[in-house]
Amino acid sequence: MPIFEYKCMDCGEKFEKLITGNEKVECPKCGKAKLQKLWSVFGVKSGDKFTPSSGSGCSTCSASSCDSCGIA
Ligand SMILES: [Zn+2]
Repeated sequence: MPIFEYKCMDCGEKFEKLITGNEKVECPKCGKAKLQKLWSVFGVKSGDKFTPSSGSGCSTCSASSCDSCGIA
């Protein structure tokens, strides 16, 4: 899910907002909707992609050994 960072053009408050739909974003401080979108990131800061915890695995199957899919 994308997280957007906004800056309120009215009071200057900066905040991050997780957008789950077409919801209206308002400043948490003053309640205005005059917002400047600064940037967006996907997910949170901890870990950017899934990596198998054991074994090397492959991108085709989720198993740690690729006996089933045949890709070494
Ligand atoms: Zn504001």
